[in-house]
Amino acid sequence: MLVRQVAILGSTGSIGVNTLDVIRAHPNRFKVLALTAATQIERLAAQCLEFNPRIAVVADAQGATQLSQLLQAQQSSTQVLYGSQALITAVTESGCDTVMAAIVGAAGLMPTLAAAKAGKRVLLANKEALVMSGNLFMQAMKEGGGELLPIDSEHNAIFQCLPDRFTQSPSDHFGVEELWLTASGGPFRDLPVSSLSDITPEQACAHPNWVMGRKISVDSATMMNKGLEVIEAFWLFGLPLDKIKVLIHPQSVVHSMVRYRDGSVLAQMGQPDMRTPIAYGLAWPERIDAGVSQLNLTQLASLSFLEPNFSQFPCLNLAFSAASIGGTAPAILNAANEIAVAAFLDSGLPYLKIPQVVERTLDAVAPIQADSLETILQVDGLARDTARHFVQRFIR
Ligand code: NAD
Ligand code: MG
Repeated sequence: MLVRQVAILGSTGSIGVNTLDVIRAHPNRFKVLALTAATQIERLAAQCLEFNPRIAVVADAQGATQLSQLLQAQQSSTQVLYGSQALITAVTESGCDTVMAAIVGAAGLMPTLAAAKAGKRVLLANKEALVMSGNLFMQAMKEGGGELLPIDSEHNAIFQCLPDRFTQSPSDHFGVEELWLTASGGPFRDLPVSSLSDITPEQACAHPNWVMGRKISVDSATMMNKGLEVIEAFWLFGLPLDKIKVLIHPQSVVHSMVRYRDGSVLAQMGQPDMRTPIAYGLAWPERIDAGVSQLNLTQLASLSFLEPNFSQFPCLNLAFSAASIGGTAPAILNAANEIAVAAFLDSGLPYLKIPQVVERTLDAVAPIQADSLETILQVDGLARDTARHFVQRFIR
């Protein structure tokens, strides 16, 4: 059996921990070669002692010293590095063949791109990286010659419902007419917008069906998450934007669907547990036990589906409009959203101002062609500065 050599970018997060959980159950199939985290040093140290990677990466020198001390006390041979360049080293020099891209936000872009260029199997959870750099990233995957497996549950579902040949020939759509991304609608699905002005970070992060990191939990509440996912699907599957639809499905059992020309609609169902798409990506094309409990359809009261109400979720509208403008507009959208969500979580930006920060930033920063990494990073920086300026106005 081929033993996959895995690097996990963002191993202390929700996706990272779930990935290690699947790997732990299959010691003969997977070996961990690199683990990275920003700040949770003790958790990372425990992971290093359990999985014994060659390389561990943290954000700064202070964290590296702390991690080294914790590891040396246990005679660990893991090499400790720090900084953003070291994230790339973890991908290119650990000897891995598979990279779980599970850093949240734009911080994951460079190492994920490095994995694409180096021809690794890329397990893509970090949707922000693809939203920012869509065309460049897909080009890098093609040139690197590796495999791209979507981990986001909706895209993983669609991947599973598409014919095998589809991914090798995205210009010929094999009778695929539409992709239907399902969305739970988040914790505020049934509340009028007028009642959301005093929403706290804790309320926004209390997702009804999924346990996730804080940023994506807020994105799910505003439905910016689904907007980012529409852009993600556009790049992953190469269908025109008007063929990508969003359906509210409160139970999160159908993870997404593909509608074919002949009237067939294929859906992938399962428990809302990220270990299913993670195990799928790790073992593809084989199927392994993911540690997920069985889906019992007779115990479900019902499965329902409804159209999203765009006036209730302005972020969804903003994402569709950035996607149709193209160029650097999705990168501007993403940068503004990252700043707004961080300000909501940590600095008292009111919940309902999140879409306003994004909208004003999109109006203020002119989109241009996203033809190089330098351009994208420059626009990302400008959009962040602009969004910070609007945040300041709204906080005061
Ligand atoms: P999380 O906040 O739980 O974890 C993020 C990880 O990234 C942590 O290990 C953290 O240390 C690391 N990190 C954060 N900032 C960093 C930086 N500046 N430099 C280096 N490392 C940094 O997030 P998560 O919920 O695991 O989500 C990770 C990614 O997966 C996101 O892009 C998210 O959209 C996507 N995703 C998550 C889920 C889910 O169920 N959690 C589902 C689908 C997609
Ligand atoms: Mg998703």
